[in-house]
Amino acid sequence: MNILLNPFQTPFTTAPFSEIKNEDFLPAITSLIEETKAEINAITSNPEVPTYKNTIEALEFSGVQLDRVTSIFFNLNSAETNDAIQKIAQEVSPLLSEFGNDITLNEALFKRVKLIYDTRDSLSLNAEQMMLLEKQYKSFSRNGALLAEDKKQTLRDLDKDLSKLSLSFGENVLAETNAFEMLITDEDDLSGLPEGAKEAAKQLAESKDKDGWLINLDYPSYIPFMTYADNRELRKKLAIAFGQRGFGNNEFDNQDIVLNIVKKRYQRANLLGYKTHANFVLEERMAKTPENVSEFLNELLDKAKPAALGELKDLEDFAKALDNIDRLEKWDSGYYAEKLKQKLFDLDDEKLKPYFQLENVTNGAFKIAEKLYGLHFEEVDTIDKYHEEVSTYKVTNDNGDLVSIFYADFFPRAGKRNGAWMTVYKSQYIKNNENSRPHISIVCNFTKPTKSKPSLLTFNEVTTLFHEFGHALHGMLANTTYPSLSGTSVFWDFVELPSQVMENWCFEKEALELFATHYKTGEVIPMELVSKIKESATFHEGMQTLRQISFGLLDMSWHGQDPSAIEHVKVHESEAFENTKLYPDVAENCMSTAFSHIFQGGYSAGYYSYKWAEVLDADAFEYFKEAGIFNKEVATKFKDNVLSQGGTVDPMTLYKRFRGKEPQPEALLRRAGLIKK
Ligand SMILES: [Zn+2]
Repeated sequence: MNILLNPFQTPFTTAPFSEIKNEDFLPAITSLIEETKAEINAITSNPEVPTYKNTIEALEFSGVQLDRVTSIFFNLNSAETNDAIQKIAQEVSPLLSEFGNDITLNEALFKRVKLIYDTRDSLSLNAEQMMLLEKQYKSFSRNGALLAEDKKQTLRDLDKDLSKLSLSFGENVLAETNAFEMLITDEDDLSGLPEGAKEAAKQLAESKDKDGWLINLDYPSYIPFMTYADNRELRKKLAIAFGQRGFGNNEFDNQDIVLNIVKKRYQRANLLGYKTHANFVLEERMAKTPENVSEFLNELLDKAKPAALGELKDLEDFAKALDNIDRLEKWDSGYYAEKLKQKLFDLDDEKLKPYFQLENVTNGAFKIAEKLYGLHFEEVDTIDKYHEEVSTYKVTNDNGDLVSIFYADFFPRAGKRNGAWMTVYKSQYIKNNENSRPHISIVCNFTKPTKSKPSLLTFNEVTTLFHEFGHALHGMLANTTYPSLSGTSVFWDFVELPSQVMENWCFEKEALELFATHYKTGEVIPMELVSKIKESATFHEGMQTLRQISFGLLDMSWHGQDPSAIEHVKVHESEAFENTKLYPDVAENCMSTAFSHIFQGGYSAGYYSYKWAEVLDADAFEYFKEAGIFNKEVATKFKDNVLSQGGTVDPMTLYKRFRGKEPQPEALLRRAGLIKK
């Protein structure tokens, strides 16, 4: 018997990890795909007239067990993988994407969905039902379901070309990144580098049977060298090599690929009835249109630019005074910024870490969630885990009702990927009047405790924990009917609001007093350290903001207009950078030819969302601050209008219900110290 095929007989129906064998996954997923296909066949062959219930809801609640099993599988593949699981993933992934395509290409199913969609205004649907209907309809129409047969073929050809082009783009960037290395044989040329970076460079050289120290274009090698190496000529050499990737007029050149990608994306958008690729992408974003994004970025630019120019002037003066540098170049920025920061703040992680013992920080996050949202976290040992290091909690509200099951998995292991993330083992939904509560997890890679020392976090790790905990609250407090609209299933320029807003509490005295106590003495973190943390967090915020805006504008310049007339990648790029440029242009460098976010990954017409989310979280937190950071009324508004609502209502509407008005960029600029009160 395959344990994955039936509802789980466990406490809170949690995943029965210890009883699942790797070899259960493939047969279970194959058979659950067949089961879901049968559920969908039952919808399309239903002789009754299509209704919201027998079509839209039936489709939404099809494949529930398949979803549970695939989330368990892919979560394990990220947090506790091994060769066997990776091999199964290679087999399972194409099965699932083929199954997904089968659904979007199912004409009988689309016919029923369209029939209901076309009569939606006469159906007296509530907001959530309308949202689900639109989401389902769009999942067909945005994939070409409305096109005539010959145009469907054109779309398939474009998609095929685009996926090949993106693949080649990425391969070229990788090839160029790997092709460059800088061998250093004179130790003096490493002057300024921290011991760790030197050691890594030595090991890299050894791994390639070379004498000396090797520096390359991978971030762990590139960043420390650009930040600390005193040798200006070598910094220049490295920076130019980095900026030249995909722009070398060689076999790995990406210029034609970039032009091809943007033109085909534009063509694809036109075919589907959208003005530009950005219009296509932004239809399912809070920002909605390229005009809104440009207006947003340009407004921020206007307001941040004076501060950025001021910071640049200070940095130039500093470099002049220190090393008699007349003209600050790109390869000087990171180096002098680091020196200036050290001089101004003299703040290092070792001073802060004793105040941030992992258990205290976790309990602090729990206490804050209790004060704000009335949540109670109780560690329980009856829940099955996939690894002994995972902690499991039962989360209840003030009435003692179950809110969620919460897993926390904090330490690095061989089978865990890098970084930190929040994920879902079971979605929240309401069916047959029963509110089925979610199972939420956060996974991190924090310093492990030793025999003599507990796990002490860097401040960056503290904000990471709060960030992921914010996503987790979004998942835990979900209270919607449909699973596909529940929790973090929101437009992606809205999804970072709950996470980023939580980080703000880490900078507040009232919150730090709850958990930032010295692990040996119990002393609360000195306020002098807290203000240093705050100040250093906004160091060079103006220039950083300009940099992010410049990438956002470049992205929109490629995707928010008709690209037919663009002939030269570099000429186009220079125009896009005109208003955000801080350092002299380097003729042999180009950003677009290695801008993997937008030409390889999924961020096209989406780069603005980093700043967008910051504006939202700063504006939201200012509301908390005005009323007091533990103000119950504001917290309840946030819970009722944002955290519990998932994607059931347009995010701007949700935000306005919480805040009483649209978000304004001033709060971010104030928090960053870029404008006065
Ligand atoms: Zn996040």
